[in-house]
Amino acid sequence: FPFPYTPYRIQEQFMEALYGALEAGRVGIFESPTGTGKSLSLICGALSWLRDWEEKRRQEEARLLALGAGGQDGLTPQQARPGSADTAEQPDWVTAFVQKKEERDMVDRLKEEQIRRKKQEDRLEKIRHNVHLKYTAKRKRCEEDEAKRLLQLSKEALSQRAGESALDQLDHNEEELILAEYESDDEKKVVSGLEEDDDDLEEEHVTKIYYCSRTHSQLSQFVREVQKSPFGKDTRLVTLGSRQNLCVNEEVRRLGALQLINDRCMEMQKNKYEKSNEENEGKKRRLSRTVCPFYSYEQMQFLRDEVLVEVQDIEQLVSLGRETKACPYYGSRFAIPAAQLVVLPYQMLLHEPTRNAAGIKLKDQVVIIDEAHNLIDTITCIHSAEVSGSQLCCAHSQLSQYMERYRKRLKAKNMMYIKQILYLLEQFVAMLGGNVNQNPGCQAVSQTGTVLKSINDFLFQSQTDNINLFKVQRYCEKSLISRKLFGFVERYGGPVSAVKTKENQELAGLQNFLVTLQQGSDKKGTPQSTPLEAEHDQLRTASPLMQIEGFLSALTNANQDGRVILNRQGTVGQSSLKFLLLNPAVHFAKVVEECRAVIIAGGTMQPVADFREELLCCAGVDSARIVEFSCGHVIPPENILPIILCSGPSNQQLEFTYQTRDLPQMMDETGRILCNLCNVIPGGVVCFFPSYEYEKQVYGHWEKTGLLSRLAAKKKIFQEPKKANQVEQVLVEYAKCIKRCSQAGGQMTGALLLSVVGGKMSEGINFSDDLGRCVIMVGMPYPNIRSPELQEKMTWLDKTMPRAAGQAPSRVLVENLCMKAVNQSIGRAIRHQKDFASVLLLDHRYARPAIFNKLPQWIRERTQVKPAFGSAFAELRK
Ligand code: SF4
Repeated sequence: FPFPYTPYRIQEQFMEALYGALEAGRVGIFESPTGTGKSLSLICGALSWLRDWEEKRRQEEARLLALGAGGQDGLTPQQARPGSADTAEQPDWVTAFVQKKEERDMVDRLKEEQIRRKKQEDRLEKIRHNVHLKYTAKRKRCEEDEAKRLLQLSKEALSQRAGESALDQLDHNEEELILAEYESDDEKKVVSGLEEDDDDLEEEHVTKIYYCSRTHSQLSQFVREVQKSPFGKDTRLVTLGSRQNLCVNEEVRRLGALQLINDRCMEMQKNKYEKSNEENEGKKRRLSRTVCPFYSYEQMQFLRDEVLVEVQDIEQLVSLGRETKACPYYGSRFAIPAAQLVVLPYQMLLHEPTRNAAGIKLKDQVVIIDEAHNLIDTITCIHSAEVSGSQLCCAHSQLSQYMERYRKRLKAKNMMYIKQILYLLEQFVAMLGGNVNQNPGCQAVSQTGTVLKSINDFLFQSQTDNINLFKVQRYCEKSLISRKLFGFVERYGGPVSAVKTKENQELAGLQNFLVTLQQGSDKKGTPQSTPLEAEHDQLRTASPLMQIEGFLSALTNANQDGRVILNRQGTVGQSSLKFLLLNPAVHFAKVVEECRAVIIAGGTMQPVADFREELLCCAGVDSARIVEFSCGHVIPPENILPIILCSGPSNQQLEFTYQTRDLPQMMDETGRILCNLCNVIPGGVVCFFPSYEYEKQVYGHWEKTGLLSRLAAKKKIFQEPKKANQVEQVLVEYAKCIKRCSQAGGQMTGALLLSVVGGKMSEGINFSDDLGRCVIMVGMPYPNIRSPELQEKMTWLDKTMPRAAGQAPSRVLVENLCMKAVNQSIGRAIRHQKDFASVLLLDHRYARPAIFNKLPQWIRERTQVKPAFGSAFAELRK
């Protein structure tokens, strides 16, 4: 395998296993601890396979073409006619004729493909060598076009202004707020600008690898690794992202929230289409519709070629878009067919409508899902939706006002759908025990608690089962109603000073009403939220209908594995409706079915059973198709010391169940262990508790008993903050303190961080080197099995899945959730080859085989079970 340096043995093993899995068309679960160069192994292993695969294909094509040119009957019937019907009943001469014809057709097709590929390669090659020249010429042309366009626009504006006042009392901006006539309920194809493209888009999809990861920064990091790898120069890579990441139209970008940006962009494209249609039909235009200047096909094609000749990450793509005046969001999509490696966020790959909209075709392709330890949760999350009572009431009020204002201008179909949406909102609020016409913040809910309902029961009980949700959802999507409503609220819900005209003054009442409602629905936000959060909150609540559309769409996607959770709390405003997906596998089934191979990779994939049973088997993957690979760490064995401790210094057995963990002797014993450890361990010690509440309780107890001050004499104590925006500051202080202590020497030897499993610090933060010389896990962080959501999931699993090794599937789920959280937390102490740390699991139950086997292999292999504290302490001292 080409590699930038001599790979470690485990990297070689990883690449070999990956190559084998791709070649054999498997579904692989790959685990490689952080710090072992997983990304590079993925890149070099997968791209080596792709290179060989393309080479084999080329040779095969050449062979077939040679045979075709020689007029030989060298093609087997399968090669000539894959999947052809049984021909046993046809006379021989017919079969021979058909076969001959198909052979010829195939050879012609191969020739065509070859010519097209050659043309494309030549074009890209030219661009590669001529980038600068082309840039200058292009930019000049763009500037000229832009000048012409502006001139035209200003002429239009002048001529319109002259004759328009009599035409309409509403000004241009407001005209755009009115829903266009909704023409048909049948799937009338709304042609977007995207579909105007020429046959370049029809080009053949080459075999490619789709690589997806969780966050934007992980994707950028991956692209940078590709750039540095031996494949960096000649791989056609395209990075996809959301409009929020890629839009270069400043006016649209400024809207901030993703949904607003999406809707505005779509609206402008619709405008573009309607505008060009009107122009074609020779209609006299009455208003100037806004279109996006970056959505120019020619410029986007240019951007596409630039993307294909040089690997670019999202930031580079955005600058390229600005420079070339082409939309990077669409330009990058144009590059998909010809790309070999497509880098994209989870949402785009795992959500089918988003995938289809982006033009991603998975048939016979390879998918690699990285950082996949939370894949099941992610799929569940992507397909779930929640709306609060205040959002429902706010949307109802905004929409009623909108309807009143434009009643005379709205066509019958629009009115019908708006009324249906209003009815749905009324009924949904009634399900929460409220009334849309009263302030949601003041309506107390009589029966509080959480209730789960099947979709059918929910629709039936809310008396909405007579409404065709599919049609309503399609209407929302096509009419862009939430965008219009947002514009309306923006216009009349803004500060009173914006009122200028006489007519608007009459609207002041409405405006004030909308402002009050917005403020009412904001109340739920925390009082101390930062200006940035407040702005975000405002954008989110500015268009509650957008959120509700998400909920409706979840209801229409539902199958019997979906539930609606009615969460009635305090007031109607605080209550909510949530769509919960019980079986995420249904949405993964298509991916594994269509793809040639799927690789699910991560630093900590244990317990693997979770992926095997809950995701892959439920998605219909045959167990023979699944391969597992787990590699060790690059650190020498002596650099990690994992210990399961069964009892403390005063021989108190360590078992932190819900019944025993609150006992004073358990909290005292935990404190004694920490005191002993802090005496001998240098630098940072990170101690994980199963929940915030328990951490608070233990902290309070130690404060009372004086243990906290004993600890504080050795290590400065930090607590995990509950707010995400304070995490950074705590971590900086923690790191500074450790550095100071190690430089100054003295009695204080470092810092102790009291953290929470699944809390703000349990993901994405590394405790490398001195930041974490010891990681302690207090008890076993089982999830709260009294939560109605988990209970429903457990019941569903027991009903649908077989028992595994004598254990009920619900039991396995709870254990897996617990161990997954443990593994995520402890895996972060070792981050590179020279790092070293000890890991202490405080609970004798970790030694049970079923639990023990769920530890990551590289930790498990080195774990010692210590029944007494003395021998464990001696090891740690060493
Ligand atoms: S076409 Fe591109 S640049 Fe224009 S608004 Fe849409 S995403 Fe933004």
